[in-house]
Amino acid sequence: MASKTTTPGICYLVGAGPGDPGLLTLKGKDCIEAADVLVYDYLCNPEHLRYAKPGTERIYVGKKAGDHTLPQEEINKLIVKLTTEGKTVTRLKGGDPVLFGRGAEEAAELYEAGVKFEIVPGITSAIAGPAYAGIPVTHRSHASQLTIFTGHEDPTKPDTSLNYAKLAQADGTKVFLMGVERIDEITAQFLKHGAKPETPVALVRWATHGCQQTLVGTLADIAAKVKAAGFKAPAVAVIGDVVTERPHLNWFEDRPLFGKKIVVTRTRQQAGVLSKQLAQIGADVIEVPTIRTEPATDQKTFGELVNDCHTYDWIIFTSPNGVDAFFTMFDKLFNDARCIGGVRIACIGPGTADKVKARFLAVDLMPDKKFVAEGLVKAFKDHQDMENVKVLWVRAEETREVIANELTGMGAIVDEAIAYRTVAETEDNLEALARLKAEGADMITFTSASTVEHFLNLKVTLPEGIKIASIGPVTSAAITERGLKVDVEAKENSIPGLVAAVEKFWR
Ligand code: SAH
Repeated sequence: MASKTTTPGICYLVGAGPGDPGLLTLKGKDCIEAADVLVYDYLCNPEHLRYAKPGTERIYVGKKAGDHTLPQEEINKLIVKLTTEGKTVTRLKGGDPVLFGRGAEEAAELYEAGVKFEIVPGITSAIAGPAYAGIPVTHRSHASQLTIFTGHEDPTKPDTSLNYAKLAQADGTKVFLMGVERIDEITAQFLKHGAKPETPVALVRWATHGCQQTLVGTLADIAAKVKAAGFKAPAVAVIGDVVTERPHLNWFEDRPLFGKKIVVTRTRQQAGVLSKQLAQIGADVIEVPTIRTEPATDQKTFGELVNDCHTYDWIIFTSPNGVDAFFTMFDKLFNDARCIGGVRIACIGPGTADKVKARFLAVDLMPDKKFVAEGLVKAFKDHQDMENVKVLWVRAEETREVIANELTGMGAIVDEAIAYRTVAETEDNLEALARLKAEGADMITFTSASTVEHFLNLKVTLPEGIKIASIGPVTSAAITERGLKVDVEAKENSIPGLVAAVEKFWR
């Protein structure tokens, strides 16, 4: 039917996937990036919101069972109102927007109001949840048919629209959502209508998230197992022989750090790299941003030094943040990459070097192993005579003076370009801190002395028995100085080095 559209606004009804941040579609990401307003649910991973452009309004409308932050009619009104105002509204829903997601109702309201909308399908928990537990919903040897039903309706009430007699007799796999609370009644109905008691059943809770849990049983005993384990929503349930594939297809839960909750403490922007690598090997990551970088206090002096950068023999970068701040200033001053001249570039470690290489500049010197200031000083010692060599060291406001002192001691002329400063992050971490308090954690990682200092200044009581991992000797010293014990220190002082050490520790 032709659209009734009259206003410039548009509402995208987007499936946000089941939780794994990678299971958002490219189109879904585009819609988040384009949004003026994001309206999102309980089951939509808040990680996706990071794609929003700065200033995007965010409205959480909840909808955890029994705790409707905003009733459905109000949500309908809200998206209609926002879209009618001419805004680009992205309505994010867990999984797929029209599979038990009331996406069709919202679309109908938008249609009635004469505003434009699009439906962007998402990866549903009904299929992805079982897949992440090693259970394929169809299989040539077990099931050529899939039935998905809602467990929300009370099967013992006369007004249920589900026909359990037919469901129990249907061939193939059955999947139900929203059914943990009613598992007793649902399994009883299946048995009453002739399903075999030994039919395998699996429940997957928080599927595709780092904290995924799977419970396996049969139609006869799964309800008792749910009770005994205190297994709660949200979970997707699979009934059928496909569950027997799990022992050899359980790829997600078999990863080395699966079941380990690990705290990552860095700036919001940087945490991503470490979190992603830990999550890839199975960890359930809690990101607690503890520090934030801000431009250096004295921008004028910094600008003058960057302006003269081509007059030096060497530029030294000792952190990725330094590289970012340097080139932000460089790009303001020059419109030609060649203005950096023939200066050579030294970096403290691979993370910093990657930032430089991203600018299509080669790195001339980097320590072999010890990616700390002392390592870089040694690299210079081995590399050349430093007498009268002109060096520009791009640094943070608060840092150790090793580089300047040692290189000056070797006869170099060192200028220090203070590029940025590190301040405590206090705004962005409340949710993560609450989660840490409620759930505890197995390990906390520190990637610099300043993350140690700022995290401890938050005065969070560390969960009992929590292990501490450090990226290298300087960070470790900061940890021990504050009276804590380092359980793991990375051999190679880099993010991949830290990840390798953490993995080895838990293996
Ligand atoms: N539209 C969603 C389903 C919404 S109904 C989708 O396509 O996935 C809400 C129910 O979905 C929950 O009660 C639970 O049964 C299921 N669900 C959603 N995300 C889940 C997840 N990550 N793990 C397990 N179950 C999930």
